[in-house]
Amino acid sequence: MLIVGLTGGIGSGKTTVSDRFAHCNVPIIDTDLLARELVEPGQPALAEITTAFGSDCLDEAGRLDRTRLRERVFADAEGRKRLEAILHPRIRILARQRIANLTSPYCLLVIPLLAETGMTDLIDRVLVVDAPEAEQLRRVMVRDRSGEEQARRILTAQASREQRLALANEVVENSGDFADLDRQVAALHQRYLALAHAR
Ligand code: ADP
Repeated sequence: MLIVGLTGGIGSGKTTVSDRFAHCNVPIIDTDLLARELVEPGQPALAEITTAFGSDCLDEAGRLDRTRLRERVFADAEGRKRLEAILHPRIRILARQRIANLTSPYCLLVIPLLAETGMTDLIDRVLVVDAPEAEQLRRVMVRDRSGEEQARRILTAQASREQRLALANEVVENSGDFADLDRQVAALHQRYLALAHAR
């Protein structure tokens, strides 16, 4: 099976684009969702996180307080590395298991932080969703009802557009309207089907 890695900065439109592929019956595996599954109560990764970062990263119900953990490791490169060492090997295993169960010509593996974490070994091609930074900021502020400072802080911590585009085999230019996006996804879908059949 052809595995297309989909990435893009916050607010670039990854979810919007992957929803459109899903409408074409393309299976979507999202590493962010896998990471959430892996830290459900009772999962070994949650126990390891609690050991590494303390039980104050849990809420009253014993669930991982992702916001608190994110705040905790945001400015702490060592802590981030420790967290990645707990999660990334498990994400890889789970992603491979899920992909092995699929029967479609190709699938999308959504890896928001592909440029930062280098999970490129999991995928055959890279599809980057690209948008101007001003547009990313505007969309994030509307979607998350967040202030500009907070949105900008996340954006600045991520890889740059140039770093992501350097990895791209294909690019979705998400600077137009939804109809424009539909046209691009339809063309990419045909391209990926053809590539999958040619393998
Ligand atoms: P990501 O998953 O990359 O963080 P989303 O797909 O959630 O980004 O998009 C961020 C926000 O911007 C969403 O509310 C989405 O509906 C909106 N959005 C995405 N693309 C467009 C577009 N081309 N025109 C208008 N709004 C858009």
